[in-house]
Amino acid sequence: MVEPAELDFEAGQWISVPFGPKIVRAWSMLSSPIRRRTITLAVDVAPGGMGSQWLRALKPGDPVEFKGPTGGFTFNRADPRRAVFVAEEIGIVPVRSILAAPILPEDVAEAVLFLASDRSAKTTGCTITVDGGVKDAFPR
Ligand SMILES: Cc1cc2nc3c(=O)[nH]c(=O)nc-3n(C[C@H](O)[C@H](O)[C@H](O)COP(=O)(O)OP(=O)(O)OC[C@H]3O[C@@H](n4cnc5c(N)ncnc54)[C@H](O)[C@@H]3O)c2cc1C
Repeated sequence: MVEPAELDFEAGQWISVPFGPKIVRAWSMLSSPIRRRTITLAVDVAPGGMGSQWLRALKPGDPVEFKGPTGGFTFNRADPRRAVFVAEEIGIVPVRSILAAPILPEDVAEAVLFLASDRSAKTTGCTITVDGGVKDAFPR
């Protein structure tokens, strides 16, 4: 991102690209809001789809203007209820961002501290995955 250098958004939100006065295409952020200098989208390229074909034809360095972030499909982590997300096809994009959002450097540091401490003295040959469940939810 050039201007602004960072995009402050919440997992689940989307950006939109105007193609004309009344023609807009919206795409959800796939990436976690922890990374604010770049955003990642996941787009199902539709045959003959104006917006998605335009997106696929972009080359590195092409300037892109977009609006956003927008949208209220966000997750309140203070809510004590267990969440179940249901999505189909490309609707999984904001859900993935929500699942990935809580991973902070501190979360990884906790695992590293455990491995470096005496408390892990009898722990051998294990892999600790700190990804909020993303690897299991999206095994590919
Ligand atoms: C909040 C929000 C978030 C979204 N997030 C994502 C996302 O993360 N990823 C994603 O992939 N999409 C997402 N979408 C959908 C996205 O905005 C576009 O609708 C999608 O990319 C298709 O747009 P397009 O311009 O490529 O296709 P369109 O031009 O809209 O065409 C879609 C299909 O219809 C066909 N078609 C178009 N016009 C006609 C016609 N007159 N007669 C017959 N067939 C026709 C086209 O050939 C094409 O196959 C989101 C939408 C919203 C509202």
